[in-house]
Amino acid sequence: MQNSKKDIRALTKEQLREFFVSKGDKAFRGNQVYEWLWGKACYSFEDMTNLSKQTRQLLDENFVINHIRVDQMQRSSDGTIKNAVQLHDGLVVESVLIPTSSRTTACVSSQVGCSLDCKFCATAKLKRMRNLNPDEIYDQVVAIDNESRLYFDRPLSNIVFMGMGEPLMNFNNVLLAIDKITDPEGLGMSPKRITVSTSGVPKMIKKLADDQVKFKLAVSLHSAIDEVRTSIMPFNATFPLKDLREALEYWYQQTKSRITYEYVVWKGINDRQKDVDALVQFCKFAPSKVNLIEYNPIGDDMFEQAEESAIKMYQDTLERNNITVTVRRSRGKDIDAACGQLANKIA
Ligand code: SAH
Repeated sequence: MQNSKKDIRALTKEQLREFFVSKGDKAFRGNQVYEWLWGKACYSFEDMTNLSKQTRQLLDENFVINHIRVDQMQRSSDGTIKNAVQLHDGLVVESVLIPTSSRTTACVSSQVGCSLDCKFCATAKLKRMRNLNPDEIYDQVVAIDNESRLYFDRPLSNIVFMGMGEPLMNFNNVLLAIDKITDPEGLGMSPKRITVSTSGVPKMIKKLADDQVKFKLAVSLHSAIDEVRTSIMPFNATFPLKDLREALEYWYQQTKSRITYEYVVWKGINDRQKDVDALVQFCKFAPSKVNLIEYNPIGDDMFEQAEESAIKMYQDTLERNNITVTVRRSRGKDIDAACGQLANKIA
């Protein structure tokens, strides 16, 4: 019986209102339930205390609330928290809480596994099992917001879609989740505090631009030379830099929002002057900044973090060309919570 019931959070507010009208109740009841489901992130009809027992029973007979369960929480010595999140069908994804002195950032997953095959990323080894639903993305954010309040005494301040998966290959659900996260009836967060990170799917970047989205865009670039990029991110053969560049120019024209490039420098791969020069040229197409991120080893020898001198060369060259550059240190490495390390390796 349980399985034939519909997941209530797949319904829009209007559909909830219609449900109650069809049962001879007031449409307003739908608003109340919506508020419980999203604003209060309530996982049980029983707990919806301003509804009559009869109404709660009616909901229970017709629907289920599929929700995540934080199965295991690991804390790093630097304060970072990694959640292993169990989905209603038993699959597991990971999300990370990253605290700084003034902020709490949630790093959330958008897919179980990943359909891309970036050679340096642990998630890529899992393959893509399925897309996450909007409520499964929303629930990860709620769980981290709760942890932030509990352990750091403040609400969550920022969200990055840099967990498992390629958000632009689960486009609709990611956008629906962001709608709920930013909706005053949901979490009411400002879209300016949300960053969607993509390996670069040109068609979808253009679609975001057309939709005039208000969140920020980050692109995992790692190389501005096609042969190099294709060797480490094979899907670049399908979406070459020329198409990515064109999509990013379009993004900036439509949104006027600066792009962040995520970039790891590896020994013998992209640590030459010509790699930096290509990046400088690429950055000129649309206003952008570069985050140089530390390589987090994933347990094979193919990749090695470049020498300090190479990082310095990147920094100096970019600065000389008036491109903002930051060097990011990894967080949560000791619990495999850093960029590219999410692979459901539960201790
Ligand atoms: N698919 C999206 C979202 C994943 S974000 C994207 O590619 O942007 C994860 C970020 O960590 C990306 O910038 C990715 O390139 C980077 N990354 C992956 N593996 C890494 C590793 N081992 N060390 C450091 N960064 C890594």
